[in-house]
Amino acid sequence: MIVAGDQQLLKQINRMALVRQLCGAPGLSRAALAEAVGLTKSTVSLLVRELMDEGWLAESELVATGALGRRATPLHLDTARLALLGADLGVGAARLVATDLLGNVLAERALPYADIADPAACVGLIADELLAMTAAGGALDGRAMLGLGIGVPGVVDDASGVLRYAPHLGWRDVDVAAGLRARFAAGALAGLPLFIQNEANVAALAELEFSGQAGVDPLIYLSIGYGVGAGIVVNGRLLTGLSGFAGEVGHTILQQGGPRCTCGRRGCADALIGLRALMDQVDGGSGAGPERLERLFARTADGDAAACRAVADAGRHLGVLLNNLWVAFDPMCIVVGGAALRLGERLLGPGRAVLRDCAAATRLPAPVIRTPGFGDNGTAIGGAAMARHHLMRPFGGQGADVAPPKPARF
Ligand SMILES: [Zn+2]
Repeated sequence: MIVAGDQQLLKQINRMALVRQLCGAPGLSRAALAEAVGLTKSTVSLLVRELMDEGWLAESELVATGALGRRATPLHLDTARLALLGADLGVGAARLVATDLLGNVLAERALPYADIADPAACVGLIADELLAMTAAGGALDGRAMLGLGIGVPGVVDDASGVLRYAPHLGWRDVDVAAGLRARFAAGALAGLPLFIQNEANVAALAELEFSGQAGVDPLIYLSIGYGVGAGIVVNGRLLTGLSGFAGEVGHTILQQGGPRCTCGRRGCADALIGLRALMDQVDGGSGAGPERLERLFARTADGDAAACRAVADAGRHLGVLLNNLWVAFDPMCIVVGGAALRLGERLLGPGRAVLRDCAAATRLPAPVIRTPGFGDNGTAIGGAAMARHHLMRPFGGQGADVAPPKPARF
């Protein structure tokens, strides 16, 4: 990537290089930091002073060892003075969190929608709750808000930040960021950097930024909810594709001539593994109501033969999808998350077995498959992770505020 910028951008790039270095290797001294990022010690001292004044960095306590001479002071991210906001526009309700710079949750809210058919009202409700959550006197009092990341169960246009289509919310062309900005305009959150992405992308960033495991890359987060999607991180960046649609693996075809998918194709992963398809198979109805979902979970947990057979079939298709993702991206790790995790080993077991067979047949080691490090708030925490991810990469990021120009599409 060719990056050109003025002195201020260059300085911000250098500042955030120091912060990123300390994310991966906390405890470095100023001298070690200078060596790691290739800046002079005096520049690093100056930038560290600024970052400490602003609440990004703090010095660790020196442990007395009795050794003579001046010892270097270890540095780490300051968790006491700044906060990141995350929002998950889930199908049943919105979840909101505020975290410190390391992803520790400081405040959280679950917010049922008054009327899901009115997206503007839902966005307004979320804005009001965020304003209340960050108001003076609460758990976040005294902290400066750095940014807000929003995860949505749908396709986001990467250039404009507009939610193009969220089938399970029934929303089309909703400018979530503009709605929030309008509500924030006169208050304490005016001008807050906003970022919006598909939920699987956001969850992938939670694993990348906040799992405490540095260097897991490439990383794929496979989200199995009503539908199936993936967030793909390669070289420390989200792979979003030309228009932000990369990772829509729910519409990769796993079975030619298979069941009809909502997209019009046949045999898509969505139609074979997604919870909506499983519900349709098991109880014969239609729609995405939470009661139907609970019925599916309950029947599977009770060992109902038809439900368990359907879930095991879905698990084997999951294994095929895992194999295909392995072959396409050679990931170090695939995190399998989403509401379908409640089906437990009845779903994951057959998936792992198919992948194991593929690995045995090719005599190649399969990637690590694991479940997410975050619970019900995973997407909301991922929103906070996305805000940190972009703020720490000021050299042309991804998101509603800093979209790169797009080539014409033919
Ligand atoms: Zn499809």
